[in-house]
Amino acid sequence: MKTVSRRDFLKGVTLATLSLGAMAFRKVSRDDAIFDFVVAGAGHNSLITAAFLTRAGFSVLVLEGRPTIGGGCKTAEVCLPGFKTDLCSSVHGFIQSNPVLRDNELNLFEYGLEYIDPDPIMHISFPDKASITIWKDIERTYAEYKKHSTKDADTFRRLVAEIQAYNPARQTGSDIPASVWRRRFAMSGYDLVNETFENHYIRTFHLAVGRFSSIPAGHPNTGKQLFSAIKQQIHGRPIPKGGSGMLAVALGRAIEAHGGVIRTNMPVVQLIIENGRCRGVECMDGTRYRARKSVVSTIHIKHLVDMAPKHLWGDGFIENVRLLQPEHAMFVFHYAVSEPPKFELADGGTISPTEAALMANPERILRSDYEHATGEINLDNLPLQVVCPSIADSTRAPAGYHTLKLEGNLPYALKEGPRHWDNIKDQVAANVFDYFRKFCPNLTEDKILARFIQSPIDIERMNPAMWRGSVHAAAYGAAQSGDMRPVPGWADYRMPIPGLYQTGSCTAPGGSVTGRPGRNAAIVILADHGSSIEQAIGRPTATKMQP
Ligand SMILES: Cc1cc2nc3c(=O)[nH]c(=O)nc-3n(C[C@H](O)[C@H](O)[C@H](O)COP(=O)(O)OP(=O)(O)OC[C@H]3O[C@@H](n4cnc5c(N)ncnc54)[C@H](O)[C@@H]3O)c2cc1C
Repeated sequence: MKTVSRRDFLKGVTLATLSLGAMAFRKVSRDDAIFDFVVAGAGHNSLITAAFLTRAGFSVLVLEGRPTIGGGCKTAEVCLPGFKTDLCSSVHGFIQSNPVLRDNELNLFEYGLEYIDPDPIMHISFPDKASITIWKDIERTYAEYKKHSTKDADTFRRLVAEIQAYNPARQTGSDIPASVWRRRFAMSGYDLVNETFENHYIRTFHLAVGRFSSIPAGHPNTGKQLFSAIKQQIHGRPIPKGGSGMLAVALGRAIEAHGGVIRTNMPVVQLIIENGRCRGVECMDGTRYRARKSVVSTIHIKHLVDMAPKHLWGDGFIENVRLLQPEHAMFVFHYAVSEPPKFELADGGTISPTEAALMANPERILRSDYEHATGEINLDNLPLQVVCPSIADSTRAPAGYHTLKLEGNLPYALKEGPRHWDNIKDQVAANVFDYFRKFCPNLTEDKILARFIQSPIDIERMNPAMWRGSVHAAAYGAAQSGDMRPVPGWADYRMPIPGLYQTGSCTAPGGSVTGRPGRNAAIVILADHGSSIEQAIGRPTATKMQP
C-alpha cells in the first residue's frame, strides 16, 4: 500500500488541476494590476461573489493562496493517478436550494457542473449488524424503520410531512404551532431525538447523521439535527459528477468567461490601506493588486484582522474576533481501494452505500465536548462518516476501483499540542480503519492501494480558512451564529474598514457548501455599487438574502 506524503500531495494537486478541466488561469501583467474588485481567497462562496461581480460588468481579480481554487470544494488525485479524491466536501445538499443552482443564475450547468443523486441515500450499521438505510423510495425507508419500531416508523413518516409543510419565514407549517417549532429547534438534538423516538437504533441514527454538522447534539439550539435524516429522505445527498471540485471549476470557468482573472499560489498577507480605506492587497511575494472599488475577502477573520492596523477595526471588533471559538475539529482519511466497502447486514447480505454513518449509541455524542476540552483522543466507538462517491459516480476511479474517505471529529489541540498530530496521525488512522473494518470486513489490507491521511492540523495547513481544523470556519453556538457571525453588528458582509467586504464560512449563515454567504455578499456589494443580482444576470430572480 502506498502512503502519500506531503510532497506527493502537491504533485497530486497539479494532476487534479489538469484532470479537472485544465483551467488556464490568465497571467496578470503589471499593466492590468488594477481591477474594480480584488477577491482574496477562492472558496466556492467568494467565487460565487466574484462570478456575480464579473456578470455585472466589473473587472475582477481573484487571488487564491493555494495551488488550486475551491477551498473546501476541491478534488485531487492525491492517492493514485485516476482516483479523484474529494479533499473536503463531497455532498452538495444545502446549495441545491440556492438560486445560483436552483435557477441556474450563473449558468454553472453549462460550465460542466452536473449532480448525481445516490440511492441508497444514507446508511448506518451497528456493531451487532443491525442497520437502517434511507432509500429514495420512502416506503422502503419506512420498512427499514419498521424493522426496529412501528411507532418510530410512523413518526418518521409524519415528520417528513411536517418538515415539508414547514415555512421557515413564518416558523409554521402543517398543524404544528409556531411555538412548537421554536421549542423543537431551541432544544438540544439529544433531548429532542430522545423525546421523539423510542428505539435505540433510530435515536442513534438521527444523532449520528445530525453530527455531520460538527456541532455536538448536547448543545442547545441543535434540535434541527433530528431533521437531518428527514431532510435527506426528501432532498437526497447529491454529489457533483467528477468530484466536489467541479463546482469550483464551473465557477472558475464562469468568472473567466466574463473577463475575470484568477491567480493561484498567491497568498494575501496584507491589506493596502490609504486614507483609512482598503485600496487593494499585497501577496506573500510582495506583488500588490489595487482595487478601484473594493476588496472582497474570504480570509479567516482571525487572520484578516492582522492584515490592517488595529485602530481601523475598532476595539470592540477586535475583542469580538478574539473571543470567536473554533468548532470541533475534523480529520479525514482518504483511500484508493479495489473494492467498495461492503457493510455486513443482519440477514447475512451486504450493502454498499455511497454514504454511511457509524455511531454505537446516542450518549457517545455527549462525550465529545469533554474530549475536545481535554485534548484526549478517544477512538472507542468513534462516530464516523464514510463516503465512497465512486459507487454512484464511475468517473471518480478506474473501472472496478473506488475512492473512499473516513471522516469525523477529533481534538485539534492535543494535550501535547496540535503539532503532535504529525507524530501520531498514521497510527490513529490505522486504528480508525481497524474499527471501520469491523463493519466492512471485505476491506482487508490488500484491497487498500494507497492512502492520504489528513489530521485536523493538516486540514488547517491545506486551507487556512479552516482555522484550527474548523471546517465551517468557527463554531456555531448562539454566540457566533446569525447576526453575531462573524461579529455582532457586522453580519452584513461589510467590514469596519471602508472598501472591504467579507464572505465565506466566517460570515452568516456559516459553513458547508451552501453558497449562501457568497450570494448574500454579492447582493450587498452590488447594491453598494449601483447594481443588483437581477441586473447582473439580466433577468428577474430572487433578490432576498438567504438566512
Ligand atoms: C473533510 C471535510 C469534509 C467536508 N464535507 C462536507 C460535505 O460533504 N458537505 C458540505 O456541505 N460541507 C462539507 N465540508 C465543509 C465545507 O467544505 C466548507 O465549509 C466549505 O467548503 C467552505 O467554503 P467557503 O467558501 O466558506 O471557504 P473555503 O472553502 O474554506 O475557501 C477559502 C479559500 O480561501 C483561501 N485563503 C484563505 N486565506 C487566504 C489568504 N490569506 N490568501 C489567499 N487565499 C486564502 C483558502 O486557501 C481557500 O481556498 C467538509 C469539510 C471538510 C474539511
